[in-house]
Amino acid sequence: MNETDRLINDLVVANRILANENVCDAYGHVSVRNPNNSNTFFMARSLAPELVTAEDIVELDLEGNPVSDESRHLYLERFIHGGIFESRPDVMSVVHAHAEDILPFGIADGTPLRPVIHSGSFIGANVPVWDIADRFGDTNLLVANVEQGRDLAKTLAENNVALMRGHGFVAAARSLIEVVRMSVYLPRNARALSAALRLGGNIKSLSQGEIDARNQGYKPYSPETWRAWEYWANKCGCGGMLTRPGPDE
Ligand code: MN
Repeated sequence: MNETDRLINDLVVANRILANENVCDAYGHVSVRNPNNSNTFFMARSLAPELVTAEDIVELDLEGNPVSDESRHLYLERFIHGGIFESRPDVMSVVHAHAEDILPFGIADGTPLRPVIHSGSFIGANVPVWDIADRFGDTNLLVANVEQGRDLAKTLAENNVALMRGHGFVAAARSLIEVVRMSVYLPRNARALSAALRLGGNIKSLSQGEIDARNQGYKPYSPETWRAWEYWANKCGCGGMLTRPGPDE
């Protein structure tokens, strides 16, 4: 298996994990930049993530056009991914989904989503909210063209996660494995924060120093990160698809 085939294999595993962990349902998608051509990325054709196989992966340019002839339907919101890859050379992988637990924080003005649990530290201290209506007025809320994708990327800026008002979130990271982990823990962090808000009183978010300490020396294939990937992959029936030798790589 060459490097690209391995990456596509891992992208299939990522799709299945995100479905099995209830980050995606019929909707939502994950992409990975082509390591051999930073101007293209891989993602599935329009299909529920749980059903994705290697044959469903297509290569798109940053404006969302398929690189080869493609007659199958593509995700309408592929412009989210192109916009972020274009503005963030450091980002190798992007997730967009509608996980319910994060939605209140995109709607309730003045209640920002903050990392409050240790596994939520990866989302970073600042989680901006993008409101499509600010620039595009009344729409169907979907990111349906290059301009909207770029505008969302502008709000995301240098952060790891942005919420989309009344719709969902985007997460961006340096690797596929990292963006999956962030996307799994993002709704859990939101759930803990929502529960704490209901209890009342002051909310103690993680400090910047705690966030930095959690992210210090991060390696995508560190034993700690691999442990989660291996666990989630097995849990969704993809244990036999694991290709990375794990630690140290
Ligand atoms: Mn969406």
